[in-house]
Amino acid sequence: MQNETLPEIGSTITIEKSTMNEILLRLKQNGFLTIGPRIENETLIYGAIENLEDLPRGYTTEQKPGYFRLFRDRHSRYFDIIPGAQSWKQFLFPSCVELFSLRRITNSWEFAPRAVETPKFAFIGVRACELAAIQIQDAIFMREDFTDPIYQARRAHTFIISVNCTHPADTCFCLSMECGPQVRQGFDLNISELDNVFALTIGSELGRKLMAGLSFDDASGYVLASVDQKIGNARRQMKRNLNTQDLPELILENLDHPYWNEIGKRCLSCTNCTQVCPTCFCWNVTDESSLDGKSTCRERVWDSCFNPDYSYQAGGNTRPTIYSRYRQWASHKLGTWKQQFGTLGCTGCGRCITWCPAEIDITEEINNLGNEVKR
Ligand code: SF4
Ligand code: SF4
Repeated sequence: MQNETLPEIGSTITIEKSTMNEILLRLKQNGFLTIGPRIENETLIYGAIENLEDLPRGYTTEQKPGYFRLFRDRHSRYFDIIPGAQSWKQFLFPSCVELFSLRRITNSWEFAPRAVETPKFAFIGVRACELAAIQIQDAIFMREDFTDPIYQARRAHTFIISVNCTHPADTCFCLSMECGPQVRQGFDLNISELDNVFALTIGSELGRKLMAGLSFDDASGYVLASVDQKIGNARRQMKRNLNTQDLPELILENLDHPYWNEIGKRCLSCTNCTQVCPTCFCWNVTDESSLDGKSTCRERVWDSCFNPDYSYQAGGNTRPTIYSRYRQWASHKLGTWKQQFGTLGCTGCGRCITWCPAEIDITEEINNLGNEVKR
């Protein structure tokens, strides 16, 4: 039955799962590109979704250090997968974006500013750790003293449907980073998936208005208790843990500890961990010139502090060894990031563990460092 009134912000309602198709349709009619998890080429990506059937229903992922498998499981839920290598970062902070171009006109150059392109994204199925990562990147790219216009334009129009995690992967440790598995803030709508219905928490005025005329019920005590129970189970399932007590101090007071060299012997400096990380933001600018010399284009591209060239300056490299580059990455994420931006730079999503070919696990390495220091 259609509802005459709108739900209040902060309230939780239940909807039939098929009602989500109408919500997606309304978002599209409002000009949003609806993006969510989907399976392509036998792996999990974030791409355009038209309706619920595009989601990886019935699938789950198995993840451990250096290992990712996607498989069909014995359930029919839409949001049981834990994301793969891709994160939402690619949409707000694209891996390659044009900054400007120049075109030769006889003896001078004509400047062409970046073609303004501000897609309106609706992200469907954002996990708590990923939402926390978006908020971390907000603090990087939209500071009081400097705002990145590309990021800001994209972020300003982003609608977020988040989802509470109920089946964490073996590599997840969002609980110890206090970023999950329950979504707390920063969403327009938040889904908790039960077997037969979605419990939907309203997070914004736009999210509320999308419900106009749709069928929904106030969430019953039974539904709310079921959601709490599922989130509680997810917390208990999460085995991996990073001890964050005095973490910046542990790292920054032990930058010369020999344990960093132990990690450096195993690390391949392949950059995988930084490319999959939803908070990493190293970038470079490159110029692409046409072969006829008549035009050139300057692009911003993702870079990595693991690239030897990244720290090349004034005729020398300040981090010539692999261990010094790993130490830079970890000491920024878990140390100086806090001084810079007020939070740690890790949300416990586990991607850097899953996608490291050397099976290096940031939780294990930092906990080991702590134990070595205590010895
Ligand atoms: S820690 Fe792993 S993923 Fe990161 S650079 Fe080293 S080998 Fe690559
Ligand atoms: S450092 Fe690793 S676990 Fe932390 S946010 Fe980045 S990829 Fe996720």
